[in-house]
Parts: sequence; structure tokens; C-alpha cells
Amino acid sequence: MSLKGKTAVVTGSNSGIGLGIAIEMAKAGADIVINSFTDRDEDHALAEKIAKDHQITARYIQADMSKASDCRALIEKAGQCDILINNAGIQHVAPIDEFPVETWDAIIAINMNSAFHTTAAALPVMRAAGWGRVINIASAHGLTASPYKSAYVAAKHGVVGMTKVVALETAQEPITANAICPGYVLTPLVEAQIPDTMKEYDMTREEVVKNVMLTRQPSKEFATVEQMGGTAVFLCSDAAAQITGTTISVDGGWTAL
Ligand code: NAD
Repeated sequence: MSLKGKTAVVTGSNSGIGLGIAIEMAKAGADIVINSFTDRDEDHALAEKIAKDHQITARYIQADMSKASDCRALIEKAGQCDILINNAGIQHVAPIDEFPVETWDAIIAINMNSAFHTTAAALPVMRAAGWGRVINIASAHGLTASPYKSAYVAAKHGVVGMTKVVALETAQEPITANAICPGYVLTPLVEAQIPDTMKEYDMTREEVVKNVMLTRQPSKEFATVEQMGGTAVFLCSDAAAQITGTTISVDGGWTAL
């Protein structure tokens, strides 16, 4: 399918799932805006490379998704925003009674509040264009829980709830809102959880991957960033025009358990 003429804004997309989604959007012909809180030469070079590889327009716009004003400024600077992919996210693993307050606040701000601010700013732009797609990257943890991930699970359940509200508020417009719920995808975010989980459970790296992470993923395989991107592209297709307010699990069967 072709997304030529559409612009996809992907938050938190200089690595991992966001980058994978941005590349799949570009492959489908969309112009893209990639984002993170950094402003390094390599961030801009990444946009240039994707533009060159796929013959589309790609821009890198720095914006810190922990800040409401930056979230809204990202959409304003993007100008066009037909497809909004709320992907920025961080994780921290600790028992709730030891969970650092500032880390709780940061996870809620980046993983949940940012989607509120970008969506609020993007909906008028989509309405003016007469078409729109809001795609929130939630998680299997938007549907189920795990110990030691209180802020993350709370934020992701919040994102799933907000997705339903946005879908209802746009139900009679050519705009849809859905959440993709990945299981484990081997990205820098997951890599970073391994040392803490090793400590928490007194396990080796291999034991954490096999017995903690993939133990709940019946396929026993990590999902890939390309699969997340492909699912997002599908949600932009005409076939998905009546899919709204729902979650699509890409989790190797995790939430079927
Ligand atoms: P990642 O760490 O590779 O990527 C996170 C991205 O968010 C990076 O580009 C980072 O720069 C960006 N980011 C972090 N803080 C930011 C901020 N303040 N402002 C702007 N950007 C910021 O992680 P990932 O695994 O690719 O995760 C992407 C999303 O997918 C997250 O929302 C995560 O919760 C979700 N997810 C990941 C998995 C998984 O197994 N990897 C599973 C389920 C859901």
C-alpha cells in the first residue's frame, strides 16, 4: 500500500521500535518526522539516511516528551501530521515500595502524558487534512501486569484507556485511534532491563531472557521492530478504516495465556 503524501510523526524514534516503525512508514512512501530529546549530528544524519534510502522527506525534530510544551511544539513544528505514532517510552524495574518518585513521574510523563499532549495537538491538524491515524505503542503491559513495573504498567494501561476515548471522540470522522501492544522486542529498552532483572532474580543473562522475559511469550521468540512497523502500516490502510478503539497484540501469544 502507498502512504505517499502522508506525513508520519513518530515520537522517540532514534532507536528501537520507533525507528523500526519510521523506516516501515518510509518504505510505504510516507514522509516522516523522527524525534527524541537529544539534538546530535547523528540524529539528523539518521533522518537524512532514511530520506535517501527511501526517496521520501525525513526530518529530525528534537523535543523532550517528558515536557508538555515540547510535545505540543513537536506537532506544531511538524506542520503536517496525518499519522501520529506515540512511541516514546522508558522503563524502570523496582518493587513499588522502593520505586523512586522522580522515576515514577518521568515514566508517567513520557509513556502516557506525552500521548495526551501530542494527540490534543495533532487532532485539529488531522481534521483539517480530512484523514488521520493515531497509533499508540502500548505494551502487553497495557493489558496485563508483571511485578516491579508499577509505573510502566500504570502508564500503558492508561494509554490503552486513552486510545479508546480518542476513538470514540473521532468515531464519525475519517480518523482512527488504536494501540499496538508488543510483547518482548529486543531493543535497547529491553537490553537495559536485563542487568536489574538479573539482580532481582539472581539469574544469568541467558536465564533472564529464557525464564523471565520469554517465559510469558509462548512463541519463545522476540517480536521484531519490523513487525511493529508492518502492523502500524496496516492500521493506515483502507482495510483498517473501521478498526478503531482497539488493541492489537503482537506478542507471540503472551496475552492469550
Ligand atoms: P528504546 O529505548 O529503544 O526506544 C525508546 C525511544 O524513546 C528512544 O528513541 C529514546 O530516545 C526515546 N525517548 C526516551 N525518552 C524520551 C524523551 N524524554 N523524549 C523523547 N524521546 C524519548 O525502547 P523501545 O523498546 O524501542 O520502546 C519503544 C516503545 O515501545 C516504548 O513505548 C516501549 O514502552 C514500547 N514497548 C517496547 C517493548 C519491547 O520489548 N522493546 C515491548 C512493549 C512495548
